[in-house]
Amino acid sequence: MAKQWQGVLREYADRLNISDATPIVTLGEGGTPLIPAPALSARTGARVFVKFEGMNPTGSFKDRGMTMAISKALEHGAKAVICASTGNTSASAAAYATHAGITAAVLVPEGKIAMGKLSQAIAHNAQLLQVRGNFDDCLDIARDLAANYPVHLVNSVNPDRIEGQKTAAFEVVEVLGDAPDIHIVPVGNAGNYTAYSRGYREEADRGATNRLPRMFGFQAAGSAPIVLGHIVKDPDTIASAIRIGNPASWELALAAREETDGYFGAIDDAKILEAHRILSAEVGVFVEPASAISVAGLLERAEAGQIPAGATVVLTVTGHGLKDPSWALRTADGSDVQPTIVAADTTEVASVLGLTGA
Ligand SMILES: *Cc1c(COP(=O)(O)O)cnc(C)c1O
Repeated sequence: MAKQWQGVLREYADRLNISDATPIVTLGEGGTPLIPAPALSARTGARVFVKFEGMNPTGSFKDRGMTMAISKALEHGAKAVICASTGNTSASAAAYATHAGITAAVLVPEGKIAMGKLSQAIAHNAQLLQVRGNFDDCLDIARDLAANYPVHLVNSVNPDRIEGQKTAAFEVVEVLGDAPDIHIVPVGNAGNYTAYSRGYREEADRGATNRLPRMFGFQAAGSAPIVLGHIVKDPDTIASAIRIGNPASWELALAAREETDGYFGAIDDAKILEAHRILSAEVGVFVEPASAISVAGLLERAEAGQIPAGATVVLTVTGHGLKDPSWALRTADGSDVQPTIVAADTTEVASVLGLTGA
């Protein structure tokens, strides 16, 4: 067989806590494109790249942590795993568990996860329960179950998840030849913010980079506990993947902000959707709403004069647009785009398209 990308555990085996005793469960995650975004560079005066994590096997960055968490669970003899999820963790856990031949149970907030993600978890044979509560309630129950029953927790409070996720920083450094000046990520539980910070720290420690990037994280305005400095009881935003009121990696993220001279900001839903449209229509990258907050955050910081001219900025966009596609059709006034209907007639189609004869 020709050589293909081997998944993050094999590609970065020397930089992860795995050994010959670790059974590697992979669907080929990682190796995602770092896409130059001239349209965003033109809007901000920076040199902007988009790390498109929607290109992972289940369509989100969660796969980087899940390959590690499921492989280590197997190494420890687990037969079943459990997680709480706003959607993407459940899709990823379900896929990796079934590939490994073990069971995944997933707890999701009732009615609050995108159809694409729900479909994935069910297709991959997870035992999926909709809990009458929010994500934070689901995580409390998952932690209780893992403490008292023979199930292995694969949420990002499991340190293996963050270990796997840090590989995204390694990939950025490999492509750019150094760390960027600024790295921007969406923030829910702040696991990914923590993972990138750690990945860049390790790259600096081994001399692969000359600097640590400033880590910028953005939360939805209705769900911004880190920005506000207190737990949010009923988090609310259209960006379901970051609808989290009590982030699991809160302390680690604050430490990483301190270390990197970073920043946390909040963005309202209207600005998230505006950024979603800019990314789809001007850059050609289709993401779910939570991911678009990286773009919105960049534009907000640029407007505030906080993005130096010519700075290299990497935006992580975390999940694929096909997960939650209905937002693409929603217009700014709240109605849905209705594509024009035409007769099956070349002349009429040409006329509607505004084409004139050759
Ligand atoms: C999980 C997730 C996030 C949030 O990541 P955290 O590590 O919880 O901060 C953001 N976007 C998408 C698409 C996600 O699936």
